Amino acid sequence: MLRVLETPLYLKGTVVPGFGRGSKMLGIPTANLNEETLRQHKLDETANGIYAGFAAVGTSEDVYHAVLSVGWNPHFKNERRTAETWILHDFGRDFYGDELRVMIVGYIRPEAAFENIGTLIQQIKMDAEIAKKELPRLSGRDDPFLKYV
Ligand code: ADP
Ligand code: MG
Repeated sequence: MLRVLETPLYLKGTVVPGFGRGSKMLGIPTANLNEETLRQHKLDETANGIYAGFAAVGTSEDVYHAVLSVGWNPHFKNERRTAETWILHDFGRDFYGDELRVMIVGYIRPEAAFENIGTLIQQIKMDAEIAKKELPRLSGRDDPFLKYV
């Protein structure tokens, strides 16, 4: 299920390389935002977890459904939160360096440790199904924030 946020969270920044964990190889590419963006957006006030929202890339007007993971990344020795966005669309290309705009509108579940990578992937694919099912009835897709200015 999905809990609609009282106030949406807005993220806008440059897509940077992540930690090379090979998410793309698993069919789940997650776009990372630069640290400056995350600082500006005070993500530390945000609960860790898996979220759903609307996303747009670069100068494009197209808006897609997205699943986000917000949490402490062990890579930074737990000093910083990260937000990784899986856009539910096949771009057929990378877009490092492009602007990513995300409007987070719903909360799906807390972060969880999984026994193995297979279970993790299964769970993330279920998250995507929830996002695809619930997002069409939520407003936000037309938010001016998602437009490139
Ligand atoms: P990294 O470790 O650099 O984040 P990933 O394997 O997680 O690498 O792949 C993420 C990258 O793939 C993004 O930065 C973006 O350039 C590209 N990409 C292509 N399609 C998508 C998509 N649908 N959602 C997110 N990122 C995508
Ligand atoms: Mg990634």
